[in-house]
Amino acid sequence: MKEAITYDDVLLTPQFSDIRSRSEVHLTSALDDNLVLQLPIISSPMDTVTESEMAFMMDSLGALGVIHRYNSIEEQAGLVAEVVNAGADNVGAAVGVSGDYFERAQTLVENGANVICVDVAHGHHILMKETLGVLKKSFGEAVHIMAGNVATLEGINDLAQWGADSIRCNIGGGSICSTRIQTGHGLPGLQTIIDCAKTEHDVAIIADGGIRTAGDIVKALAAGADFVMLGSLLAGTDEAPGEVVAFPNNVMKKRYRGMASKEAQMEWRGNYSSNEGITTFIDHKGSVVDILQDLRGGVLSGLSYSGCRTIKGLQTNAKWTKQTTAGQSESRTHILSK
Ligand code: IMP
Repeated sequence: MKEAITYDDVLLTPQFSDIRSRSEVHLTSALDDNLVLQLPIISSPMDTVTESEMAFMMDSLGALGVIHRYNSIEEQAGLVAEVVNAGADNVGAAVGVSGDYFERAQTLVENGANVICVDVAHGHHILMKETLGVLKKSFGEAVHIMAGNVATLEGINDLAQWGADSIRCNIGGGSICSTRIQTGHGLPGLQTIIDCAKTEHDVAIIADGGIRTAGDIVKALAAGADFVMLGSLLAGTDEAPGEVVAFPNNVMKKRYRGMASKEAQMEWRGNYSSNEGITTFIDHKGSVVDILQDLRGGVLSGLSYSGCRTIKGLQTNAKWTKQTTAGQSESRTHILSK
């Protein structure tokens, strides 16, 4: 049986560096030949993560927001238009693989979305093949098509063949996800990236879900991801949709929920099939600007520890060590207590 690793199982080995300043390090990454971002971070298409405020701020910081699809076509197109009116260069928007997806995609593009994300839990699927066929035929190269999620090399290869330009990789690894518990399926997140990075297709790889720290981002990029997609790290910020709720002892929180949670499904489609996510509250974190600056700082430092000035350089030069459970606890902050 195949053995698989994930983020905490490994560390990158520090290497000789001739980088004198972090200003020599660049985090640019390409979704396709015409769409290069300054920061390899994409916000999840979830209704507690990305609407217009988040998408606008992500674009302003050189990253990308993907506006969720759990609303009417008019509402989602209105959110896209707000971002474009406010002057953003890039804005993504999600569609599904059934029902109104084609009309939705057309309206989103008409309103200025330049990335359409075909957003389903199990992307290695006949409906994905049909949807990508329809969207590619209609939009050609004019619109970037993101798709997912997949967990295997076969999955990424098929989606690339069917027309996806970038592919979200990881099944069951999200912080609010219960897919592996509910279905027994999935694959540890870092292993998914290692496997998917073997593809010979010209597609961008997005490590999606389970990323908790800047260190996890560095590991995902080193393993072959071109971008990371973040939910929980961006949820709870001012720019995430939803109200700040006061908890006892003046603790302020915002709601964060899986889109396949029973609660989310009941709200957006009035019934639920398989409950594969949870709803929770997450600490209010202030502006996403500070969060992204902090993550950026960590990732720049991470590249410099491997002696690399670019993400591609990191992917070529990275050296890995598997750590023991004692190593894992040493790797966390562990100030001595009695
Ligand atoms: P996080 O960054 O670990 O919080 O994970 C966010 C990712 O989890 C999203 O980008 C989706 O790929 C995934 N996701 C969102 N909602 C659900 C759900 O209800 N069940 C399983 N996965 C989900």
